[in-house]
Amino acid sequence: MSQKSLQGKTALVTGSTSGIGLGVAKALAAEGANIVMNGFGDVDGPKAEIEALGVKVVYHGADMSKPEQIEDMIAQAAKAFGQVDILVNNAGIQHVAPVQDFPAEKWDAIIAINLSSAFHTTRHALPAMQKANWGRIINIASTHGLVASPQKSAYVAAKHGIVGFTKAVALENATSGVTCNAICPGWVLTPLVQKQIDARAAAEKKSVDDAKKELLGEKQPSLEFTTPEELGALAVFLCSPAANNVRGVAWQVDGGWTAQ
Ligand code: NAD
Repeated sequence: MSQKSLQGKTALVTGSTSGIGLGVAKALAAEGANIVMNGFGDVDGPKAEIEALGVKVVYHGADMSKPEQIEDMIAQAAKAFGQVDILVNNAGIQHVAPVQDFPAEKWDAIIAINLSSAFHTTRHALPAMQKANWGRIINIASTHGLVASPQKSAYVAAKHGIVGFTKAVALENATSGVTCNAICPGWVLTPLVQKQIDARAAAEKKSVDDAKKELLGEKQPSLEFTTPEELGALAVFLCSPAANNVRGVAWQVDGGWTAQ
């Protein structure tokens, strides 16, 4: 039997109980990587889905807004598997409001979870990657790391921040086997986006189906949602030797959104 491409590696994916994180975790597991899962909500169902791919899975419930819990998660991952080889910073939340009405606590939570958590995971996971002279850090940013939309000031600030952070980490490790890149999805139909579609349907007294079509029509020329499976496949590519010299990119998977 041929060896899978990530056999023997360990991938930690934050926010992997749902949506994109779960899709990425499954794609990496399908290539043989053991998985450290994280996130809220149902754990057993997604954990079983990943385990069915024949890898070991450990769950850590760290709240990504709590630096000390993040430190513990990286330490527990190292205890379970030796070290983290692939770090996917994916956990994220959204809140929609004009800036003058934006609740300050929501701003703080979005910056902590969508941006600062990646600093904390990276600073704790990086030394072992540097020692091994191999590592992959993949930050799930967004088209909102490259362009803005109204009502999303905190999210846009955090995502632009993580694109900048990605470049700095990539440069600091540019002569090593550790790469750091960002993936910038457009609309992906996950619970995070479903909430926005439902709110729009309710506010505009439209069907959920019409709200979905309008959402895509406004921004995403392909008129198709990007899927967690497509993003997982890109993450697998970024972990491959073909991507050894892909460093500091912010790679759109957005159906043409940012090409306009
Ligand atoms: P989702 O709501 O399906 O999943 C978010 C995950 O993050 C869940 O596992 C959740 O439990 C976890 N999470 C939330 N707060 C957390 C916290 N404090 N600590 C630990 N885990 C926490 O959303 P998704 O759409 O899959 O989003 C995943 C990432 O992709 C986010 O960073 C999001 O900004 C980004 N993204 C999503 C889209 C999209 O259209 N869905 C587009 C671009 C970027």
